[in-house]
Amino acid sequence: MESERCIFCEIVRGDLPAEIIYQNDKVIAFRDIRSQAPEHILIIPKEHIPTLNDLSTEHKELMGEIFLAARDIAKGLGLSEDGYRTVFNCNKNAGQEVYHIHLHLLGGRIFKWPPG
Ligand code: 5GP
Ligand code: ZN
Repeated sequence: MESERCIFCEIVRGDLPAEIIYQNDKVIAFRDIRSQAPEHILIIPKEHIPTLNDLSTEHKELMGEIFLAARDIAKGLGLSEDGYRTVFNCNKNAGQEVYHIHLHLLGGRIFKWPPG
């Protein structure tokens, strides 16, 4: 179900501009507006799903699509060999800001662990 006030649904619909770098029938990927690394891409399902808690078994294939997109995007950006980080934030303790699930793909620098 789509939410009228969801900014990521607006990007999916083309109502809000974004630097889209990849899409297929199920997922779309675009550059994060406040980049935290030389490469910072958000990969989202076109379907509105607020948080990881809202996933059901019906979303198994869709979640696979998101990670396959991450793999392909990382390859296209030349990140595969040196490495990159992928992150889903869920709810307030993780700092989720936009309630339409999105996989952060970050690369182009060295990341610390633990993440803080
Ligand atoms: P979260 O904290 O929910 O995991 O991440 C949300 C991300 O969405 C943040 O990194 C933020 O910079 C990004 N973001 C928020 N609004 C917009 C927008 O309008 N366009 C784009 N491209 N990214 C956005
Ligand atoms: Zn949405």
